[in-house]
Amino acid sequence: MRALRLNSWKSEPVLEDVPIPEPGPGEVLVQVSAAGACHSDLHLMHDFEAGALPWAPPFTLGHENAGWVHTLGEGVDSVEPGQPVAVVGAWGCGACAHCRDGIETYCERPDRAPVPGGGGGLGLDGGMAEYLLVPAARHLVPLPDGLDPVDAAPLTDAGLTPYHAVRRSNAKLGPGSTALVFGVGGLGHLGIQILRATTAARVIAVDPRESSRDLAKTCGADLVLAPGDDLVEHVREATAGHGADVVLDFVGSDETLAAGAASARQLGDITIVGIAGGTLPVSFFGVPYEASVQTTYWGNRRELVEVLDLASRGLLHTETTLYTLEDAGQAYRDLAHGTVRGRAVVVPHDSYQP
Ligand code: NAD
Ligand code: ZN
Ligand code: ZN
Repeated sequence: MRALRLNSWKSEPVLEDVPIPEPGPGEVLVQVSAAGACHSDLHLMHDFEAGALPWAPPFTLGHENAGWVHTLGEGVDSVEPGQPVAVVGAWGCGACAHCRDGIETYCERPDRAPVPGGGGGLGLDGGMAEYLLVPAARHLVPLPDGLDPVDAAPLTDAGLTPYHAVRRSNAKLGPGSTALVFGVGGLGHLGIQILRATTAARVIAVDPRESSRDLAKTCGADLVLAPGDDLVEHVREATAGHGADVVLDFVGSDETLAAGAASARQLGDITIVGIAGGTLPVSFFGVPYEASVQTTYWGNRRELVEVLDLASRGLLHTETTLYTLEDAGQAYRDLAHGTVRGRAVVVPHDSYQP
């Protein structure tokens, strides 16, 4: 089968022929309907030094996947061939307290996981291929009726990650509150819709791209701004001088972190999701009084079930730009150039082929 492989750090991925994996006991082979191109993959290709992460290339990219169950390993009886599924991307040990709670992102026995601190497309072979080997059936979430197996793929990361971040700040997002979103790409366009679908907050979205600001409006943002010197002033004006109760930073650069901290309300949350490598100095007078500064990483299985439910009921719409597997490299180049609207999604199969 064909697969888009990252062969070393600081390199561009290459489309190669590799054998179709055979599922061993407990494993499941998924025929891939779609794999989203996440900006984190660009960080993997360009930013990370050898040794920075507990795993390393070579592996097939694609950590945002959906498809159809294809072949069952020995002992798997919870799913059936042909069944459409979304794939939970973080693969832990399955047995520690966090894994038992479905929070495999924070597995506490990474030495017993298939790869420490990663998953398919993050150290192990991912979904930018015709088939994806999933090491345990618990990582598969059956798609609810009415949810398209292509639209489902971005929900497993671009949907799940903002959902987890929004849930974490839920108590601060009641009526009268304001959420400030930086970055309206894959994560941000779903983040705005998640705020609208699950909270009463007013939403202010910031992006330098005009097309992203248009998308933000389509997704339900109340106010859309471009970054710049007067950004903080505009946010203060729009919030009676108070600032944003919750800042969701889907960029994470020095610039957005500084603007987010300056725009946050006292007692607010500043949540860093983007990994552009910026830093925010935190000191007594440096951030608003009692503001919490936090990072969030991905989300858990139960939250993915909830995201899929929202989407199947029409409350979340994934904006996608589709590519063939042959054009997967182009998907990442377009993402790097900022020309993708919503999520770039690679579609290896447009229907199930038994
Ligand atoms: P994307 O490229 O689809 O979207 C990024 C958006 O940010 C673009 O629309 C871009 O125009 C905008 N932007 C750039 N500079 C900006 C600025 N100064 N102010 C406001 N907006 C700006 O990326 P994505 O796939 O949505 O990922 C976003 C970030 O989140 C990346 O850093 C990615 O690595 C990270 N990420 C983190 C997690 C996690 O679990 N923490 C999960 C997935 C992705
Ligand atoms: Zn990602
Ligand atoms: Zn574990």
